[in-house]
Amino acid sequence: MIVPTLNCPSNCNYCWGSEKKSKMMNIQIIKEIDKWLDGFREDHVHFTFHGGEPLLAGYDFYKEALSILKNSETHKEAGFSLQSNLWLLDEKLAKLFSQYDVAISTSIDGPKEINDYQRGEGYFDKTMKGYEIAIKNGVHVSFISTFTSYSKDFRDEIYNFFLKNRYNFKLHTALHSIRGNNADKWVLTPQEHGKLLIGLLDNYLNDLDKIEIKDFDHIAKSSFIRRGTLCTFADCMGDTLAVGWDGNIYPCYRFVGIDQYVMGNVHNSPSMEELMKSKSWNILMEFKNHVDENCSECNYIKFCRGGCPYNGIVSSAENNLSGNDSNLENNFQLSVDPQCLAYKMIFKEVSNRASKELLNSSISLFHHDKNQNKTKKFTIMDLMLKR
Ligand code: SF4
Ligand code: SF4
Repeated sequence: MIVPTLNCPSNCNYCWGSEKKSKMMNIQIIKEIDKWLDGFREDHVHFTFHGGEPLLAGYDFYKEALSILKNSETHKEAGFSLQSNLWLLDEKLAKLFSQYDVAISTSIDGPKEINDYQRGEGYFDKTMKGYEIAIKNGVHVSFISTFTSYSKDFRDEIYNFFLKNRYNFKLHTALHSIRGNNADKWVLTPQEHGKLLIGLLDNYLNDLDKIEIKDFDHIAKSSFIRRGTLCTFADCMGDTLAVGWDGNIYPCYRFVGIDQYVMGNVHNSPSMEELMKSKSWNILMEFKNHVDENCSECNYIKFCRGGCPYNGIVSSAENNLSGNDSNLENNFQLSVDPQCLAYKMIFKEVSNRASKELLNSSISLFHHDKNQNKTKKFTIMDLMLKR
């Protein structure tokens, strides 16, 4: 993940990731990232430009950055994606992103009234204008919809908005933050989150041939193969790394800009072994060990892995919601992702539905029951086996 800046022109009510005074990455940092990757790992590398708002870096930055990262021989072939509100997307940038096959995710929380209530007046129109430019130029765009304590009550309206427009989307929920408490009143309780996931799964099982909700594809697949396929439900440590505007390396974009979580700097081309000596890595390892111990009795541990370490760490630190980062290393009592109950609810739902379907199909083998009561157009097994 490359985070050119934490600055953003928008001011979404529940945002925890932007900083108006954040500086901008210089192209020199991209050159250092490229140099750092020489011999770092043998795998293919996927670069995601994230923010703040990454388009603030401008056309010239991306023209050079994409060329350096694509044509470099320091790493295996690169893939690209970008997470943006698209307000600053113009024809020139869209053509560049199309040339490099940059897949874009953009955030829309549902119909205009709901979206703008959560994200601010005028957001919807600006983002959709950028979306039209992207599509016209052949750029692949998918959506992220953030559910909050407000929008949870509009589940059907939001789902139908995406369905009607055939927009594929991913789910986010408003999160507590290490940086401050502005998001707190928007955060769903785990119970509300679990209920929302079950309700959306129910909607989705009528429309697998029309839209895609990636989260459910991953949840169903993970339950089937018994291994997490989404970062939240896998051991992300070390597989994901994020570089901030100044070249500092962090475990994930969610930690960028928080001094305690700096693992190193690309300027020094640290090896993985050197990054693993950082305090930040140790905290993540403590989280992993905590999960192994505390989730050991859970039926879903293999494909949940304690959820997102960032969420776990936010809820672990005493005073974590005061915005006083200096308290993070003191009084540190680890906990798993506080959305544990929500994860249990959705994994249980998937597993119960799968068992029921298996039972029904074996009964119908013997009885040839053509009138078997089928309430959904698709089954959970269809979702598990979806490519
Ligand atoms: S810290 Fe959370 S958001 Fe970041 S890669 Fe890990 S699971 Fe994903
Ligand atoms: S569902 Fe909860 S207890 Fe089970 S592995 Fe996930 S976080 Fe741990």
